[in-house]
Amino acid sequence: MNGLMMDTSLSITSIIKHAEQVNGDTEIVSVTSDNPRHRYTYREAFARARRLANAIAGWGLEQGDRIATLAWNDYRHFETYYSSACSGYVCHTVNPRLFPEQLVYIINHAEDKYVFLDPDFVPLVEGLASQCPGVQGWVVLTSEDNMPGTSLDNVICYETLVASGDEHFEWPELDENTACALCYTSGTTGNPKGVVYSHRSTLLHAYATMMPDAMGLSRKDVVLPIVPMFHVNAWGTPYSCPIAGAKLVFPGSKMGDGETLATLINEEGVTMSAGVPTVWLGLIAYLKASGKRVDSLKSIIVGGAACPLSVMEDFDTFGVDTHVGWGMTEMSPLGSVNSSPSSREDYSDGDYAKVRLKAGRPIFGVEMKIVDDDGKDLPWDGEAFGSLKVRGPWICSSYFKLEGSDAHEEEGWFETGDVATIDPDGFMAITDRTKDVIKSGGEWISSIEVENVATDHPKVAEAAVIGHFHPKWSERPLLIVVKGPEGDDLSEEEMLAWFDGKIAKWWTPEAVQFVDELPHTATGKLQKVKLREMFKDYSFPE
Ligand code: ADP
Repeated sequence: MNGLMMDTSLSITSIIKHAEQVNGDTEIVSVTSDNPRHRYTYREAFARARRLANAIAGWGLEQGDRIATLAWNDYRHFETYYSSACSGYVCHTVNPRLFPEQLVYIINHAEDKYVFLDPDFVPLVEGLASQCPGVQGWVVLTSEDNMPGTSLDNVICYETLVASGDEHFEWPELDENTACALCYTSGTTGNPKGVVYSHRSTLLHAYATMMPDAMGLSRKDVVLPIVPMFHVNAWGTPYSCPIAGAKLVFPGSKMGDGETLATLINEEGVTMSAGVPTVWLGLIAYLKASGKRVDSLKSIIVGGAACPLSVMEDFDTFGVDTHVGWGMTEMSPLGSVNSSPSSREDYSDGDYAKVRLKAGRPIFGVEMKIVDDDGKDLPWDGEAFGSLKVRGPWICSSYFKLEGSDAHEEEGWFETGDVATIDPDGFMAITDRTKDVIKSGGEWISSIEVENVATDHPKVAEAAVIGHFHPKWSERPLLIVVKGPEGDDLSEEEMLAWFDGKIAKWWTPEAVQFVDELPHTATGKLQKVKLREMFKDYSFPE
């Protein structure tokens, strides 16, 4: 017997209708290249999205065609998200930080028909347009007055395009499984792979992220997404905020600028924000140097990479709750959030630090398991390390135009490529990427835990641990350190002594090497493949 409930489509078009009717007066504030503080309301945003959709309808595109964006977080990018997807096209967000050859690869692989780009990226695109013959036009996200001179063919001014459309455009009815967005993984090895989100997956993900122990979004919130809209949809905030009625503050190209972030937080009353560890380091450095505070800010989610304890402890002094979030492009991206146990008093300082550094509990909708090399389930005892697999309605079931991937080998599960432990109460902790694990004498060492301890040293700016050949143990950890501003006199002895009592003795790195910088990917992750390559001729001292 079936239930007797209406089968309405879970499409993101429903977000537009809801936000216009219920949260129409809520503001979206943006930093753009032509206006340091643009502000308008959700009602105005969606009226312009409708105009844009009507204007694009004249281009003769087919349903499912891809429209790409190369843009910062701002209101025009927001309008493009909805106009393209709710018209039945797919919004392909392209990460401008990728290497030019990767950009060419993904624009061609996705068969993008039009590209919407910020004026900042015109020079970048001029260098690769001739290699992207399928692109029929380049829409520059600005007004006629601010259009840059360019050698690009078929250039369209965004504001002129919007002005040419009719505000009374009717959104088409879309099946909830229709594709709405496309994002490529950063591809540390091999070509980037395309992840295709559906209206349904996007809506369900947005719903789940709003829950109190996830991002906890409400109408009272003012949200500053410092996670880019060009990479995994700014963790769903362009969808969740209009549902919740939360005010959105978009930092434009100023995502790495501590001063702009602090000013936006204070002047717009930001209550909640999300970003990778690097942006927080920038904001904290600015606050410490300027003596400023961010009193409206209540909580932040830190994800994309392991969060250094120092970031949490610094934010404690500013009264900001720091929560680790974990996820990936293939997961829309959110998989878990560490809402931390509320009773800090129940823990010793050391234990509390350990708990809050974990990746947290799965959010409802994401199922997890850890398995051994034979694919057998491992216990949730907080001790056993295993390959982390997930499933759920916002986790990718295959990649775009790619038959069968290793990640989908086990029917119904996605292999994340992360190695993790899970506590009896569901707290998951990432210990490594599968390809980065260190096996010393047959036993695994968690490189993330060793790195966490190393980066807590006041003289260390950044640290990475790699497994390196050792004649007796087959592999031992080699610590590679970038010294901080006060680290000139940091020696190998002092660094190694720092680990005493903080981790198991045999996890302590065998040796330390100092470098000026560590290699990173376009999304700011450590590139351990490169690091291992750099140190391949190194030998541990006898
Ligand atoms: P994103 O850029 O959104 O993080 P990617 O797909 O590029 O997505 O990268 C996902 C990977 O980043 C994860 O599989 C994991 O290895 C790492 N990662 C994400 N969040 C965390 C976290 N909180 N702690 C440790 N690693 C993390």
